Amino acid sequence: MDTVKLRNGVEMPILGYGVYQVSPSECERCVRDAISAGYRLIDTAQAYGNEQNVGNAIRNCGIPREELFIVTKVWISNAGYERAKASIDESLRKLQTDYIDLLLIHQPFSDYYGTWRAMEEAYKAGKLRAIGVSNFYPDRFIDLAEFSEIPPMVNQVETHVFNQQIEAQKIMEQYGTHIMAWGPFAEGRNNFFGNETLIAVGAKYNKSAAQTALRYLIQRGVIVIPKSVRKERMEQNINVFDFTLSNEDMQRIRQLDLRQSLFFSHYDPQTVKWLCNYGKSK
Ligand code: NAP
Repeated sequence: MDTVKLRNGVEMPILGYGVYQVSPSECERCVRDAISAGYRLIDTAQAYGNEQNVGNAIRNCGIPREELFIVTKVWISNAGYERAKASIDESLRKLQTDYIDLLLIHQPFSDYYGTWRAMEEAYKAGKLRAIGVSNFYPDRFIDLAEFSEIPPMVNQVETHVFNQQIEAQKIMEQYGTHIMAWGPFAEGRNNFFGNETLIAVGAKYNKSAAQTALRYLIQRGVIVIPKSVRKERMEQNINVFDFTLSNEDMQRIRQLDLRQSLFFSHYDPQTVKWLCNYGKSK
């Protein structure tokens, strides 16, 4: 597995397994399948409601904890120093581990500066090996990076061939921050798996549209966390390290960029209200 080196020297796999929308009842089986397929990075979040199931998988998978790389995220309802601090301990308890490899602020809303201070403190205390953010678009990303003691080491944002984040990645790189792609298949939107360019380029290497899309991001240094509940797809999605896209093929895929989200806008008050209320009824 290829890795990236974070600003503090921690090595992180460049490809992992995401468990958003994986139901708690299926999650332990899925994570164990992913680990047996070779994945070592698992991406969960407080808001996904499945940290406990990821924890069960970590405990029962037979792979030493230090060989795994566990990512979770502090949700908006836990924003602010005191709540975030308590939520980190709660995540540790649910994940059944002494440390989290990478903790992210899930969304840039509410008192995320307080959250960040709690994370810096837990990082210094050894509870977290690395800290970062998610869904921080350039303005808020620059703000936090400029005005915090420890700038984010990772920023996980919607990134796929239709929303490539080329400019945002350049800005992150100025701060030594790695870009991590959520929704690397855009959850199948925009006929992702039927895209003619991805299929045609992939055919040259005997690879699927999914594998070609992941390889494109990996060659740009983007960390990817594809999700599938099916073991054969998990195996397909990790099988992307035995080929290299040519410069010409990278350029062809570069042309697919629509430079906009296929999901939501952080500038739409209804969306922001929906996000801030997400999980309150759980
Ligand atoms: P995704 O990985 O872009 O797409 C998942 C979809 O693609 C599922 O419907 C899956 O179906 C299908 N699929 C997977 N592999 C396939 C293949 N080889 N061929 C055809 N279809 C395939 O979507 P995502 O789950 O939203 O994103 C990945 C991870 O990013 C999440 O699990 C989560 O960890 C993270 N994420 C983070 C945020 C954030 O705000 N930070 C937001 C969204 C996601 P099956 O499961 O039926 O195979």
